Amino acid sequence: MTAALLDTFGRVATDLRVSLTDKCNLRCTYCMPAEGLPWLPSAELLTDDEIVRLVGVAVSLGVRTVRLTGGEPLIRPGLPGLVARLADLAELSLTTNGLGLTRLAQPLADAGLRRVNVSLDSLRADRFLALTRRDRLDEVIAGMAAAAAAGLTPVKVNTVLMRGVNDDEAGELLEWCLERGYELRFIEQMPLDPQHAWDRSSMVTADEVLERLTARHTLTPVERGSAPAEVWLVDGGPARVGVVGSVSRPFCGACDRIRLTADGQLRNCLFAREESDLRTALRAGATDAELAVRMQAAVRAKKAGHGIDDPDFLQPDRPMSAIGG
Ligand code: SAM
Ligand code: SF4
Repeated sequence: MTAALLDTFGRVATDLRVSLTDKCNLRCTYCMPAEGLPWLPSAELLTDDEIVRLVGVAVSLGVRTVRLTGGEPLIRPGLPGLVARLADLAELSLTTNGLGLTRLAQPLADAGLRRVNVSLDSLRADRFLALTRRDRLDEVIAGMAAAAAAGLTPVKVNTVLMRGVNDDEAGELLEWCLERGYELRFIEQMPLDPQHAWDRSSMVTADEVLERLTARHTLTPVERGSAPAEVWLVDGGPARVGVVGSVSRPFCGACDRIRLTADGQLRNCLFAREESDLRTALRAGATDAELAVRMQAAVRAKKAGHGIDDPDFLQPDRPMSAIGG
């Protein structure tokens, strides 16, 4: 099997996001309602063996980097064992809310995990509580330190700014990350919330973030490639800061990503409204070659862009936590 995962616009998928669970131990207001969501039935979740098999097929088709996400990936039982198997197949990173990292950072690093992104939207305990509905800021901060100590570096920090909620913390968050050697990434809020309450006017745009940062620092652009984040050296470097302007500065033309949900559906875009059911095929006895053909067909169907600005844009049925952020 040598064919790549190629779409009709000439893009080649080489980066796979794998959601390990749709469940989470936080309830970020823009991601989940307080009561949680109707979780996927456990019989529908891919087993470790099934994930390893599907990632293996994707790697045979040219996938080179795999990022584990969720929901909260650290709550998956036996994670270091799965990481050890996946690290043999591809360069592996993980996106987490940081809870549990104090315990898991070293075992995950030992298992072959290379890097982590830890999400943090506020450094103020009262705001963290209001935003995540859990009083666990200290644990997240300790988790980042544990990740750095375990060599999961550079530790990247993901922040979603919301107008009137935490947008006054942009500068503070950057200083805090610079002091610790963490690389901050601001992510524009996207229409992927289960409440369907996203509103463009409350989204803090990449331009606004940059305006705030350049008031305090000199930013020098770093070449972007296919990475969704635009990255700048801060005050000449080596420190860096990034902005993921998915909505106002879409990078669909250079997108090299595909996603596998925790229940085994392949998605060619975060905003796709169709999925390819690899789980059913796999459990019905499909061979690796048959699974590869399905993956290639799913990637071929990838649209040119996410279409958020189109008048007929429809949010995907699944929220971010179930797709794998
Ligand atoms: N639980 C892990 C975490 O929070 O990092 C991994 C999954 S979470 C869905 C991944 C990232 O997506 C987090 O950084 C989170 O802030 C971000 N996110 C969630 N909903 C979002 C939205 N509607 N727009 C932009 N980013 C979002
Ligand atoms: Fe959980 Fe991550 Fe969603 Fe927050 S953003 S509720 S940590 S999945």
